[in-house]
Amino acid sequence: MYFRKKNLLKCIPAAVLCASISMGSAFAADNSVQTLSELPAAGQTMLTGMLATAAKTAIGSIGTTEEMTKVKEDLAAEEAARKAAEEAAKKAAEEAARKEAEQARLAALQYVPTYGRTVTRSSAYGVTETITANGQAMGNFKLTFYCACSSCSGGYGANTATGTQCVEGRTIAVDPSVIPLGSKVYIEGFGDFIAEDTGGAIKGNKIDIYLSDHDRCYELGVAYADVYRMS
Ligand SMILES: [Zn+2]
Repeated sequence: MYFRKKNLLKCIPAAVLCASISMGSAFAADNSVQTLSELPAAGQTMLTGMLATAAKTAIGSIGTTEEMTKVKEDLAAEEAARKAAEEAAKKAAEEAARKEAEQARLAALQYVPTYGRTVTRSSAYGVTETITANGQAMGNFKLTFYCACSSCSGGYGANTATGTQCVEGRTIAVDPSVIPLGSKVYIEGFGDFIAEDTGGAIKGNKIDIYLSDHDRCYELGVAYADVYRMS
């Protein structure tokens, strides 16, 4: 058995070593085999087939590696495109939501609110395209704050010049020759108000914003902001 196998191995290229070992029993019966052509026909066919398969596999694996590289690149490009599209859709959705909220806020101004809100300076009240498109730019105003105390209101208390009651988040005092009373006003950084009060010191580009609490008038102090008349 040893010699038979040794003789066979001498004559067959190293590449088919494995094949010959696995096929050992097929040739074991004939110890005179010296070359491939001397193998039985069935053995020749099997070896030729195995060599061809091995070659195909080798060539195929090279092709597959190149293909895999390309597939990986394609996948990376697709992923990048998908992420870009996702990002764009997200931005569009955020923009749409922002505009919708803005429209809702402006629509709410069509009804003079009888409620108020706590006035704070916030970047949420920026000057947006909707504001500039729908409002009349009145210029930059000096903003001050007042409450119903005698120090702030000189005895008028919470009664406005137009006969309404002051409400924080709604009431502002203006110079009526600059901003007509009853106007809906958008103040950058502070939001929407109704021009429904006046004041002895409120002349020209000045707005006094009503707050329900005197201490907060001091806290907010003085500010400057762009103002838009919305209606
Ligand atoms: Zn006060």
